[in-house]
Amino acid sequence: MRDDVKAVQLVWLSRTGLTNLNSGEGGSNLVDIKKYRFAGQEYPYVSGQAMRFYLKEALRRHLPSQAACVADDQGESCGRIRECVLCDLFGFMTTLPDVGAVTRVSPVKVSPAMGLVPLDGSLSLDFLTRRHRGAREAGEMTGDIVNVELAVNIYKGGLCLDVDRVGREEERYLLGQTEGKRPKPFYSVRFKDHIDADERARRVGLLMDAVQDFSDYSKQARLLTDFTPDVVLVGLQHNYSHRLQKALETEGGNARANVVRLAQVLEEVRPDLTEVDGQPALWAGLLEGSVDNAEEVRRVLELAGVPVVTPRQAIAAAKAALGV
Ligand SMILES: [Zn+2]
Repeated sequence: MRDDVKAVQLVWLSRTGLTNLNSGEGGSNLVDIKKYRFAGQEYPYVSGQAMRFYLKEALRRHLPSQAACVADDQGESCGRIRECVLCDLFGFMTTLPDVGAVTRVSPVKVSPAMGLVPLDGSLSLDFLTRRHRGAREAGEMTGDIVNVELAVNIYKGGLCLDVDRVGREEERYLLGQTEGKRPKPFYSVRFKDHIDADERARRVGLLMDAVQDFSDYSKQARLLTDFTPDVVLVGLQHNYSHRLQKALETEGGNARANVVRLAQVLEEVRPDLTEVDGQPALWAGLLEGSVDNAEEVRRVLELAGVPVVTPRQAIAAAKAALGV
């Protein structure tokens, strides 16, 4: 794995069919959609916690059980950075015997997936019944009825990986002590490796694969949805920053990507990008029909020197350049 890459950044849009990916508070017989409000409009969203869960489950499918723990009754995970890929990548808050409370900040940062099209005009209500077979009169509406909010939308999601912290932990060490009668020690922090370079690279690769495969959303028995990236930007950066997350937005509450903003953000992130064969390390994946102005998006990306392929090809190209 290249050692000059400090951040792997992905930002994407995903256009879904009729679905309810993440439920809100709801009511006794209502399964609602989690919503946020902006400028008087309501939009759906999927929490960052849910996004992390999807990614973890996608990783778990490719890991032996001893390398992917589950939380115990207290909600605490194993905390073994060396052995457990999930605890290494997603961090933990746990108590270890003889050590006490231990926390690890997640090297994987995930954004909530924000719906970009107002719910007003795109929300529908479906109901499912739990009706018992047997002594009911024909035509009688009985049994429990549960209403389920469903909506079509375009979501923006994102992930940034703090590469230096994969398989590593910051530890405080003694730097020296002040001079004088009463010397005082001073400290700094440095990385302590828990795993070797090959294993670090493998874990980064597994995470990037998970972004193109994650699928364990709720309510899939009736609402089979693909929520993986349809339009994606993948960047390798020698400087850690989140700027690329602003590149993909729609305009005016419809399905057109804002290409002026896209061009500007590409310009903004260029100084942070690693170079690969003399080119900035940024790739775009684009599935036709994901946004209404896909051709325009393609033109702006190509003008900025960003190769446009399919989402999977973009992630594969970034993995190859990174050496994972
Ligand atoms: Zn664990």
